[in-house]
Amino acid sequence: MSQVVIIGAGPTGLTLAMLLAQRGIDVKLIEASRNFRRTFRGEALMPSGLEAIEFMGLTDLVARIPHRPLDAWEFVIENRSIFRVDEPMEPGGKPCTLISQPAFLEGVMAEARQYPNFEFIAGTAVRDFMWENDRAVGVILGDDRQIDAELIVGADGRSSIVRQKAKLPLDRQSQNFDILWFKLASSPEFEAENIFYSIISGHDGFGLFLGCEGLLQIGWSLHRQVGDDANAWQRINWQAKLVAAAPDWLVPILQQQKIDRPVLLSVTVGLCPQWHAPGVLLLGDAAHPMSPVRAQGINMGLRDAIVTVNHLVPLFQRHAQLTEIDAVLPQIQAEREPEIIQIQKLQHAEINQGELLRNYAPLRYGVSWLAPHLSLIRNRLRQSWVDRQLLLRQGVTSVSLKV
Ligand SMILES: Cc1cc2nc3c(=O)[nH]c(=O)nc-3n(C[C@H](O)[C@H](O)[C@H](O)COP(=O)(O)OP(=O)(O)OC[C@H]3O[C@@H](n4cnc5c(N)ncnc54)[C@H](O)[C@@H]3O)c2cc1C
Repeated sequence: MSQVVIIGAGPTGLTLAMLLAQRGIDVKLIEASRNFRRTFRGEALMPSGLEAIEFMGLTDLVARIPHRPLDAWEFVIENRSIFRVDEPMEPGGKPCTLISQPAFLEGVMAEARQYPNFEFIAGTAVRDFMWENDRAVGVILGDDRQIDAELIVGADGRSSIVRQKAKLPLDRQSQNFDILWFKLASSPEFEAENIFYSIISGHDGFGLFLGCEGLLQIGWSLHRQVGDDANAWQRINWQAKLVAAAPDWLVPILQQQKIDRPVLLSVTVGLCPQWHAPGVLLLGDAAHPMSPVRAQGINMGLRDAIVTVNHLVPLFQRHAQLTEIDAVLPQIQAEREPEIIQIQKLQHAEINQGELLRNYAPLRYGVSWLAPHLSLIRNRLRQSWVDRQLLLRQGVTSVSLKV
């Protein structure tokens, strides 16, 4: 029997598997995909995530794989630059950094594979649980294989099957946007300085930056209203739409490109009131699916993994009773939940600011006319944004690897 079976080799599940394997725990990691070439959601890490990577001893890995620090954030409303904030925002601190998620996961996998007590099963999804006296005691894979476990960890993302099988409900937060993701050829303007632009034009809004693998990336907020045709975005001429919403300096860059149809990345946000059941623990997006706003989900997943290792390793190293393992699961939730609640609130506040500007034209035009000319207003807006970023960058609670 495995001590821990982890479902999902995303950032949460794979780093947890590696950390447990390094500490002598017998781990099986099960991943539905065959490789790390699937569509990924996001590549930005905040200082809190970079610190987690440092605790995990993976800073050298990040240096070896495609990565790119951000130089600044800039806000553009109705074709005018409102303010800019340079990275790193904290003196002597770490800049928000874009990393290649596939290369990162491959590197963590290579580290985990060095341990004979680690096993990776890829290309097969978990479809059910095995139960004994109301405790989950293993998983059944799509190919009918059965795998026993002292503990099942669901790190299988926002549509978690583990969550469903363990009957742990998710409280979804109302969410009226998805992201349309465009990848475009780079242009020299972006090579000199990598600025994350947040651009609002009329009711439209999008983010733009140079990704770690050298392609320009655009995340377009696709707002949904009740009764909307869910496929309407597929019929839009995106070249024309992006050009119409772009500030003047961006227009020629977009016009030179052939812009293909984007990829739709659906957004789910929520929190499970309970992250555990007898024999089961949920982590990462499975327990608390995160909004893409200000790049939080990977960071939170890495921090979940560290706290979980701190609690579980001493128990598994002394081969504790199953009842002792179940007893520690609420402590893991109790340690992580306050940060998740606070970060989701802060993300929501960021979304509300954008909504206000998109939906209230007098405010949008007022800000876009006044801020570029009046330094008092520009500095106030800038400082208020910087103040709101502190916890989103550093995290809310102190997390460190103790075992
Ligand atoms: C558009 C968008 C952009 C984002 N950008 C960022 C960003 O820049 N920075 C950031 O920090 N966060 C970002 N996020 C959030 C981030 O993507 C998630 O919070 C993060 O990926 C969660 O990691 P995870 O390991 O918990 O889950 P996931 O990354 O979703 O991994 C889950 C894994 O489980 C596997 N799986 C699922 N079901 C099964 C099954 N039944 N059996 C076996 N395996 C299974 C999946 O194949 C997957 O590999 C973004 C989100 C969105 C929607």
